[in-house]
Amino acid sequence: MLNVRKLALTSIILLILGSTLVVLAVRQTEAQTEYAIDIRGYTWNHSTISVSIFPRENESWWEPSYLNATLRGIAQWNDAIQEFASNHTEFSYLSRTSLVPTITHEVASGFDIYIGWIAECESEATIGQSRAIVKSPCIMIDNTVCLAAKAPSGHVMTEVDMQNIVVHELGHTFGLYHCSYSGDVMYSTVHYRETVKPLSSLDLYVLSQIFEWMSNSTQFTSSNTCPQESSVTLPSNISYYHFPIAAENLPLPTPQNLAEYTIGLFLRPEILTAILIAVTLLTVAAIILKRRKKPQEIHMK
Ligand SMILES: [Zn+2]
Repeated sequence: MLNVRKLALTSIILLILGSTLVVLAVRQTEAQTEYAIDIRGYTWNHSTISVSIFPRENESWWEPSYLNATLRGIAQWNDAIQEFASNHTEFSYLSRTSLVPTITHEVASGFDIYIGWIAECESEATIGQSRAIVKSPCIMIDNTVCLAAKAPSGHVMTEVDMQNIVVHELGHTFGLYHCSYSGDVMYSTVHYRETVKPLSSLDLYVLSQIFEWMSNSTQFTSSNTCPQESSVTLPSNISYYHFPIAAENLPLPTPQNLAEYTIGLFLRPEILTAILIAVTLLTVAAIILKRRKKPQEIHMK
């Protein structure tokens, strides 16, 4: 019995030590990453940004899920803006910013952002494109986003691909450029993946800097200052974190997506460590119980 207890204690100590090392290793990696995004040096002169979405329903390559993916990408930005503004009260002015989508069935005018689609893009590097028209001193007049249904490699965009590309391109329509950290939605390359990428505190902090003029006025005037074309780094008092995506902003999982998500979840170091601890504890408990229940031999003479 004593040996079993010793064995259990040693296993638990080793497992706790193991999980501590995993956590330390993760922290070490995080400490070395520099979180920064380049900005273009222009902004919108108002806070409610209208978005026209022109679905190509009559085209053979059109997928109705692209429209849902676009609406969810817009909602992802709106939710993250509200959450960032309430988490960091010094940037509460950002809560006035929102994207307001309208679905149009013909070429429209009078909007800030125009989202449209083409059948196929010219190169793998441009599966989405955003083009800003800017007037002096630094004000965007409008921004046109062109999304492709298919890449030159033959890859047809899935609903998840489209949402990830929309979220990235919307970042450009706000004046954010690229991030060197591959885990961020503003990383220059959007990989085809099975899950929707969340927005980060870095994306929203950079947005707060682009809209800094809103901290003291509701409309951009000549007394406001333009954002400078530069690289904006996340300050040390704000940690890098992701905003949770509301269930209604996630596409319905396909059976394949669900299986891959579940496997991915179980392969995470903290989950693996927790499972290992739980299995060891249960095994030890079972051994102890089994030994206790063993009937004692009674010798009757
Ligand atoms: Zn980009």
